[in-house]
Amino acid sequence: MEQSSLIKPVLGGTYPTISHGHGVFLYDKDGKDYLDASSGAVTANIGHGVQEVMEAMVQQAKQVSFVYRSQFTSEAAEELADKMAELTKGDLAYSFFVNSGSEATETALKIAIQHWQEKGKPKKQKVISRWMSYHGITMGALSMSGHPIRRERFTSMLESYPSVSPPYCYRCPLQLDPHTCGMVCASELEASIRRIGSDNIAAFIAEPVIGAAGGVIVPPDGYFQKLKKICEENDILFIADEVMTGFGRTGKMLACEYWDVEPDIVTFGKGMSGGYTPIAAAVMTKKVMEPIRNGSRSIIGGHTLSANPLSCAVSLAVLKYVEENELVEKSADRGKDLSRGLKKLARKYSFIGDIRGRGLLIGLEFVQDKATKKPFANPADVTNAIIGLGTKNGILLYPAAAGLDGVTGSAIIISPPLTITEEECAELLMRIDITFQQFNETLG
Ligand code: PLP
Repeated sequence: MEQSSLIKPVLGGTYPTISHGHGVFLYDKDGKDYLDASSGAVTANIGHGVQEVMEAMVQQAKQVSFVYRSQFTSEAAEELADKMAELTKGDLAYSFFVNSGSEATETALKIAIQHWQEKGKPKKQKVISRWMSYHGITMGALSMSGHPIRRERFTSMLESYPSVSPPYCYRCPLQLDPHTCGMVCASELEASIRRIGSDNIAAFIAEPVIGAAGGVIVPPDGYFQKLKKICEENDILFIADEVMTGFGRTGKMLACEYWDVEPDIVTFGKGMSGGYTPIAAAVMTKKVMEPIRNGSRSIIGGHTLSANPLSCAVSLAVLKYVEENELVEKSADRGKDLSRGLKKLARKYSFIGDIRGRGLLIGLEFVQDKATKKPFANPADVTNAIIGLGTKNGILLYPAAAGLDGVTGSAIIISPPLTITEEECAELLMRIDITFQQFNETLG
């Protein structure tokens, strides 16, 4: 008998019913607490139950919750766009609001195509991406995503955009030594462009740090500079998908700042509203918008709820909270504490093969044999077992794909709210230690 008519991720599965949340903790209706070590799906960046956000929500709801973007603008949407321009810095100046990360990446692609059309290059319609990537679940976004498990049922309807190898140095796809490889994986973009023809390519899209598709893959220094140069030399726009990494998650406002690379278009979602309401965005540079501004003057895109004033007011309150509470800096600091603690655990548990990440976006890849990096024979069972034990022990962890085919590896993401304190980090490490201990016992 189902709990209710709501469709659950696993049909017939039982899920705790959450009653309320506060800070880094969620509480179910039986009173059990869960340390939200994943921020849901790497989303609740400022934690749960923040008063300032609730006040902004109520105030906006009292004024107006909905206006249609083709009829009106709103103060909330205008202020949010200005705040985004301020926080993203550089030339990134124009925001287009949507409701999910998937819509944001699809919008970015459409705007890239339109940019070239308005410049008299209508054939530039394709987008190149990496075969280990996730840009969203809708058909256009999934077409750009190198995520085998999420693609496999729909392959006949999807474009084959992912073609470039990821910088997965723990298991180099090209079997090279990361110290001497010369970043051949980045050069693959050039080969892809040659094959397809730059006349046919609108953009290259990449997550600065690969999230769910690879269990947090941080590229080596110089990698993104190289990719950006290749894009520039070939008249191809660079779209940075910061849906997971944006607004402080990695210890910088944008993860791209680590490498001083300015994208032509950036997409945001998740932490942009910290999960308080659905909102996401594609943010464009002046260069991208200019031909459209001087041409048709209208972007062919948008949804009924785009730039919804309630969501915009909430997002604005969240971004102000990030700034005022110095959460970007805190993410960098707490990220170092957590990584240090997790590395200690990796010495204790031989099934932890790799720990990687920046700020509070940390990936753990699990292996059967640390020395040879041999994956478990049943990687999905391993991930599910660890996450299941975690939930029982009151710690929420996020699953990720891993392995060279995105299927044969096992990984989790640890990404608590950026507000987590040192004491709460210690509690997180204690709960995860208990979880790993229990999992270790199952290995016999
Ligand atoms: N892009 C990245 C990098 C993501 O991690 C995600 C979601 O996990 C998306 C896009 C899609 O966002 P959404 O689930 O809000 O559609």
